[in-house]
Amino acid sequence: MNYHNLSSQDTAKVLHTSIDSGLTNKEAGKRIHEYGENVLESKKNKSIVYKFFAQFKDFMIAILIIAAIVSFVISLLEGHADFVDPIIIFTIIILNAVLGVLQETKAEKSLEALKNMSAPTATVLRDGNQSVIASKDLVPGDIIHLETGHFVPADARLLTSINLRVDESALTGESHAIDKNAEKTYAEETPLADRKNIVYATSIVTYGRGSAIVTGTGMHTEVGHIAKLIMVDDTPDTPLQKRLASTGKVLGIVALLICLAIFLLGTIQGRPPFDMFMTSVSLAVAAIPEGLPAIVTIMLSLGVSRMAKKNAVIRKLPAVETLGSATVICSDKTGTLTQNKMTVTDVYSVSGREAFESKEAHHILTLGSLCNDSTLKVTKKEITATGEPTENAIILAACKVGINKAKLDLNNKRLSEIPFDSSRKLMTTVNKMESDNIYCITKGAPDVLLSKCTHYYDKGKISPLTNNKRAIINKYNSDMAKRALRVLAVAYKETSTVPKGTALTESALVFTGLIGMIDPPREEAKEAVSICKHAGIKPVMITGDHITTACAIAKELGIMEGHDKAITGAEISAMSDESLGNNIDDYSVFARVTPEHKVRIVKAFQKNDNVVAMTGDGVNDAPALKTADIGCAMGLSGTDVAKNAADMILTDDNFATIVSAVQEGRGIYQNIRKAIHFLLSSNIGEILTIFAAILLGLPSPLLAVQLLWVNLVTDSLPAISLGVEPASKDIMNNKPISPKTGMFANGLVFKILFEGLLIGSLALTAFILGYRYDLGGSPDSLTLGRTMAFAVLSLSQLFHSFNMRSDKSILKIGIFSNMKHVLSFIVCSILLSAVIMLEPLANIFKVVPLNPKQWIAVIILSFVPILVVEAQKRVNNNH
Ligand code: ATP
Repeated sequence: MNYHNLSSQDTAKVLHTSIDSGLTNKEAGKRIHEYGENVLESKKNKSIVYKFFAQFKDFMIAILIIAAIVSFVISLLEGHADFVDPIIIFTIIILNAVLGVLQETKAEKSLEALKNMSAPTATVLRDGNQSVIASKDLVPGDIIHLETGHFVPADARLLTSINLRVDESALTGESHAIDKNAEKTYAEETPLADRKNIVYATSIVTYGRGSAIVTGTGMHTEVGHIAKLIMVDDTPDTPLQKRLASTGKVLGIVALLICLAIFLLGTIQGRPPFDMFMTSVSLAVAAIPEGLPAIVTIMLSLGVSRMAKKNAVIRKLPAVETLGSATVICSDKTGTLTQNKMTVTDVYSVSGREAFESKEAHHILTLGSLCNDSTLKVTKKEITATGEPTENAIILAACKVGINKAKLDLNNKRLSEIPFDSSRKLMTTVNKMESDNIYCITKGAPDVLLSKCTHYYDKGKISPLTNNKRAIINKYNSDMAKRALRVLAVAYKETSTVPKGTALTESALVFTGLIGMIDPPREEAKEAVSICKHAGIKPVMITGDHITTACAIAKELGIMEGHDKAITGAEISAMSDESLGNNIDDYSVFARVTPEHKVRIVKAFQKNDNVVAMTGDGVNDAPALKTADIGCAMGLSGTDVAKNAADMILTDDNFATIVSAVQEGRGIYQNIRKAIHFLLSSNIGEILTIFAAILLGLPSPLLAVQLLWVNLVTDSLPAISLGVEPASKDIMNNKPISPKTGMFANGLVFKILFEGLLIGSLALTAFILGYRYDLGGSPDSLTLGRTMAFAVLSLSQLFHSFNMRSDKSILKIGIFSNMKHVLSFIVCSILLSAVIMLEPLANIFKVVPLNPKQWIAVIILSFVPILVVEAQKRVNNNH
């Protein structure tokens, strides 16, 4: 069906809807069944089977599988088919893959849930009431409202259009915004791009507003026809996951080389090749931290859900890591650092401050209410306003002195308008006044508006605006700004016809007055600013407001201190990129900036090796949000475009939320680091145990199945519980983590090697105790040695996990301060005892039960890492 050749009335008829009241909710409910949800079919989620087999793509797992097959074949060739080992290796690998799939599915689900939290919405008229619903619930026949910054949620025939301009580049590739017009109709064959009475799903409203009847939804839209896969966000691996994958590869290769070396060594020593092969397989198993990738994914997804609970919705997973490294947070002022609850406190005419009840103030507030899109809502209990806070403040102040906005609008009909935009900082309406005269009324930033005024109005008289008067007005303006007030100027002119174009409309105006309003800082912002400063993060204020207003609030919040400077957008425009980059660190307040300046500000900070978080809400903020390392969009006041460009959405628009997200990000990074430290020290311990035994001419002290058990069970649980370790309280007293230093900075490699060596020697000692000295006597001293090595390896790792929890002594942070960790310790200890003491399990893992004397030896040896690392911590912390 083509709607571009129908009038809007006919379109409504065809779609059985009412232009005045929209569909009924009942009808909409019926149509959603008929037409389906308004979503584009996205890439099908990968099937479970695919996901399962994808787990085996892992390089390290591939080595294991090959080893298992080879060992089976060799045992067959040698005539004593050994099924147990390969079966166990396979079982464990399959279990691991199943866990991997479960994990992946869970992570996908939680990311999906997050996506839904940030899903686009649409303003729709149903049953005569306007409300905001999820875009996916739209049906053909719905009447939608469109405004600057909205995504067009479906294909729709325009009903009204006021200066409506739409960016259709996602659909047509045309990069210029297109003017739309509800009044036109077009011939049937008119090409898509020329149908100005239709708006298409996925376009963006860049200017103006309008309303429209939905004609097509979901896959029945133009964009649905051409591109089935558009707008599907893949979740890329984070830099850390990528780095870990490559570390894994290196470990795999090193393991292969060690295997080869051991194999050769053993052969030279004259050992049977099959034994040597099995030992090599054990080594490969020992070297590979099988659980690591899954654990990192678990930690990231746990962290992301924790952040969502604290109002920070992560849209792109890598942002979690980047957050921890943030060094500069550039924040909008209005609404993020302040409450965005404006109240008019001052009204000035050229003669000075006016009482609200005065004739002059009445005149200024009347003009301010006419050039205004807010509406009053009067109930018995209270009078509220809906719309932009700045405009709400004006009509509420006007209401107090008896000016009723609705009545004003009725009696002074609006003929046309030029909407407010933050680059011009002005808004104009053209009204046919009661007196039949045509008035162009402009309100906006005084510094901008005053330059467009030639006269001023005072006490019913219009006089030329002399420099002297300008100076007086500027003084009033700066006096108010110093008190942290936002100031708007109001001007007008009388014309005989509606002027054409912005330049003609907004010129030769008559200055009438100034309106000052207060917007108190958010209570929690001050503390958040001070946390930032302690944490080595520079908080920066970016605002469209006047420099004096901005500085007053920045000082109150502590953003501007000591030698900090402020700069305006105009001054930035006059600077080269190079000099901006050289001086950027001096500034903490950027005032009267337009969204275009934001990109330059971000780049200048980045040039000095900063990791920059930047907030934004408008359509024009999208480039800055994309350029920033962490783009933060406003959940409440942000446009769809800004949200789509952002890495993170602040659902409460609050500066303090960014700071707590940074804290969370640092915590996650720290915990992942702990898990890596823990797991790799265990792997190194295992390799060294086997390597040393071979060098000493002993049999392999640990078998492949035993090592897999340690790596996948007794290591994984404590590692995961380290991931839920609460972030240490002083985490925000440290400097940001430099992305350059990487995971293994601060001597981590040394620590891993040292602790690996320690654990390795303990396991080897246990093996020798069992094998050579045969504690308590046993018919099979080799198995006893292996059992003791296995027990010490597992248990020492479990004890060692307590060391990992903090740089501080475990006694200081409290053993029970992470109960999940204590629980994982208990569960793993029970599992370990079960494997050793229950016969069927003991047979599978080729271990024998231990007597009390042997257990005591195991426990004493296993406890050594705690003593050594505690001593080490004491020495380090005393320095
Ligand atoms: P911030 O960047 O701190 O969030 P902001 O985005 O609210 O501030 P803008 O909305 O760009 O800043 O406002 C800049 C200036 O434009 C204000 O100082 C005010 O003088 C003027 N202004 C704001 N809203 C309106 C409006 N609705 N009509 C006319 N002028 C306005």
